[in-house]
Amino acid sequence: MNPQLPVKGHDEAGPATGSGDPIPRAALHFPGIRHQVVEATLGREKYAEILYHASYKSARYWCDKEAVAHGLSGIAVFEHYLHRLSRRGWGRFTVIEADAANGCADIRLDHSDFVVAQAEVCASRICYRFAGWFAGMMDWIGEDTGRPVKTLCCETQCGGDGHDHCIFAVRPRSGI
Ligand SMILES: [Zn+2]
Repeated sequence: MNPQLPVKGHDEAGPATGSGDPIPRAALHFPGIRHQVVEATLGREKYAEILYHASYKSARYWCDKEAVAHGLSGIAVFEHYLHRLSRRGWGRFTVIEADAANGCADIRLDHSDFVVAQAEVCASRICYRFAGWFAGMMDWIGEDTGRPVKTLCCETQCGGDGHDHCIFAVRPRSGI
């Protein structure tokens, strides 16, 4: 799958938006700082749990509206969703491989806004807030295609730990 967004401007000012314009680096810090404050208040485990469930539900809601509106099904839903997420400036999401029939997918994230905004913190796997989206998406696809599967997703590699990019793994619940 080819990159969906140019990354021009990333080094100078931040990830590119859907229009190709870079996002000012200062703007990237706001959600990162907000995230740190809430995480410190609730505790990382509790906050991650809340975000996971909220993201899971939001992905399913998106599928109900957008996938149906565009007549998409199967992995095409996944790819379209990642394309839309990438246009929001949270990073560039791409499918490494996906097997909807078995509820498996690996998603690559380049230039995560959390890694960019919190690089100085050196937190481990700081992009966990995205994980619920991919499990919600995969479960919706399974139901939509008549092969329901319950999945979980977690970030298995993070740019915050010094890697070049982040990876999220979606797997059937029994497979994690
Ligand atoms: Zn990450």
